Amino acid sequence: MNSLDPQTPLNALYEAKGTVHNRRIDGPFRRFKWAMMIVTLAIYYVTPWIRWDRGPYAPDQAVLVDLVHRRFYMFGIEIWPHEFYFVAGLLIMAGIGLFLVTSAVGRAWCGYACPQTVWTDLFQHVDRFVDGDRFARQKLDAAPWTWSKVARRAFKWSIYLFIGFWTGGAWIMYFADAPTLVHDFWRGEAAPAAYITVAVLTLTTVTLGGFMREQVCIYMCPWPRIQTAMMDEKSLLVTYKDWRGEPRGSVKKAEKHPGMFGDCIDCTMCVQVCPTGIDIREGPQIGCITCALCIDACDRVMAEVGRPRGLIDYATLEDCEAEAAGAPPRPAWKALLRPRTIAYLLIWSSIGLAMLFALGARSHAGLSVAPDRNPPFMLLSDGSVRNAYTLRLRNMATRPRRMSVSLEGLPGAAMWTDLTERADAARSLAVTVPADSTRSVRAYVVAPAATPQSEFSFAVTTLDAARESQRVVTNFETPTGERP
Ligand code: SF4
Ligand code: SF4
Repeated sequence: MNSLDPQTPLNALYEAKGTVHNRRIDGPFRRFKWAMMIVTLAIYYVTPWIRWDRGPYAPDQAVLVDLVHRRFYMFGIEIWPHEFYFVAGLLIMAGIGLFLVTSAVGRAWCGYACPQTVWTDLFQHVDRFVDGDRFARQKLDAAPWTWSKVARRAFKWSIYLFIGFWTGGAWIMYFADAPTLVHDFWRGEAAPAAYITVAVLTLTTVTLGGFMREQVCIYMCPWPRIQTAMMDEKSLLVTYKDWRGEPRGSVKKAEKHPGMFGDCIDCTMCVQVCPTGIDIREGPQIGCITCALCIDACDRVMAEVGRPRGLIDYATLEDCEAEAAGAPPRPAWKALLRPRTIAYLLIWSSIGLAMLFALGARSHAGLSVAPDRNPPFMLLSDGSVRNAYTLRLRNMATRPRRMSVSLEGLPGAAMWTDLTERADAARSLAVTVPADSTRSVRAYVVAPAATPQSEFSFAVTTLDAARESQRVVTNFETPTGERP
């Protein structure tokens, strides 16, 4: 972000910083970051275009939040509104997953997978592509505004807008059939909410990823503060090993005065490659998203000057203390397995297994019953009593299904519906429920004159090989109000 004038009142509120022009670097962590960026962006942009055959009665988009019909589709899973606990379970798993990752490898989420990090990384690559590497960009920033600079900026900001637009465009695809929505969008026939959402997301993507960048992580995001509370002396952090690096001195100085200087040659490569522009040699700080690019940079420098790698490395505070006292470096992976991370892993996998079991065991047919309250009963001319109910039959299968609805209890009673005649009243009847939907049926239950007020059940059973069923207990009201 461009620095503001230090004299402005706004700057009195926080430390003004110059634009971060991080330098290109290659190494294992940079390559891992590339892979994460490609995978996460591909998942985000491509997922709405994946098709998933659910038969002729349900949408064929693999991942879809169908707000109109109140369904959430995710490949073979379909969540209905009454099953929102699955979504709550997924959110809990995501939360515990973050606890697990943080306690094991510190702020790895921030460094590799957070959308702010991924899009910032993408925009920084655009900067590098258009304006060149660090020094070229610094030079261009400091140069006066010429037509060439205006053209470059216009080109770069057009790419920013293009990325922002596709980011917003991809988001709305999760809420409607993607090919249809694209067609409607470009013909101006999509819902106004689609255009407003794309406009807002274009603006926020460009602002947060293109211009504010590391300022979001340092000043706006609450997650670094929360993470700090979750980390302990056994959590992995990107650490500068000052006991090995200090005092700093160039290779020439070290050759002139053997034994006087540490391994850090003060080349500032670790600072130059840092996407948040911090100096890790000043110790752990909130601006470090643990992306480990400084490790790549320093390992490369150490290789060039013939010193062992790992002057900056992933390490726990506990290991740092031991190493500073003379113990050999402990491989970072050994810090991953400890009681706390194993406990998080067990909780996380238990919730996942419970959800998988619940998904596998759930019924795809259901019933809800709402008795009429006003009036609660009607006396018929032959002295019998009639109660009315609204039955809502649920068919979660992707094909129409015949279902039997029957009375259990209430001796001598029979029912008919708004689909049948009273003359056809019986203890059970069959209803066809369309695929992937609910059907409301008005049911009239009539019982002999002497029937006391009592409980009984409606039972629904699918008339197919699955024979799924559900019972719902309800009341039969009478003028006597007496229960047996
Ligand atoms: S890259 Fe390594 S050697 Fe260079 S300044 Fe950073 S810590 Fe020192
Ligand atoms: S200090 Fe190193 S690990 Fe931290 S953000 Fe900068 S480059 Fe990434």
